[in-house]
Amino acid sequence: MHIKQIELSGFKSYKDAAPSEPFSPRINVVVGANGSGKSNFFHAIRFVLNDAFVNMRADERQQLLHEGAGAAVPQAYVEIVFDNSDGRFPVDREEVRLRRTIGRNKDEYHLDRKHINKSEVTNLLESAGFSRSNPYYIVQQGKIMSMSAMKDNDRLELLKEIGGTKAGARGP
Ligand code: ATP
Ligand code: MG
Repeated sequence: MHIKQIELSGFKSYKDAAPSEPFSPRINVVVGANGSGKSNFFHAIRFVLNDAFVNMRADERQQLLHEGAGAAVPQAYVEIVFDNSDGRFPVDREEVRLRRTIGRNKDEYHLDRKHINKSEVTNLLESAGFSRSNPYYIVQQGKIMSMSAMKDNDRLELLKEIGGTKAGARGP
């Protein structure tokens, strides 16, 4: 599975609906001047994938809405287009579009244009390997530093957890 494309509209510094360049299944590099929106772009990905597990308050959503010379836009969306040819999303389609739309009083998800509720979203993401307890599928700058500074054993435990090989510690 890989991300094929991302479309942002009204999200932080991205005012008008703008599809990204198509991504390679291998390595992609995002470059741009300071303040041009690179971090916002990665925030947009986390907003759809990680933050699905978190409840956002109206004022937190408001901060994500694009604010320009005039008033903030009333709503924003981020859509991630996945290549699902390996079937990691349990959906019988090779391409899957997951969109999150927010407004001050709105926070909803669409899967291929069809509205789905929050628990359907978290089930879908968990079955594809994204989870609340293991947010390491996006490794941010600070995390790389703290991972490299960890004790060997702690890092091994973390890698086991990421790889899904850590045995569940269940009591007798
Ligand atoms: P750097 O190279 O310095 O890390 P960057 O490319 O990562 O820069 P971002 O942090 O993604 O840049 O973008 C910062 C810009 O986004 C700032 O100019 C900020 O004003 C703008 N921005 C953030 N939130 C909003 C918003 N809600 N509405 C409009 N612009 C916003
Ligand atoms: Mg940045």
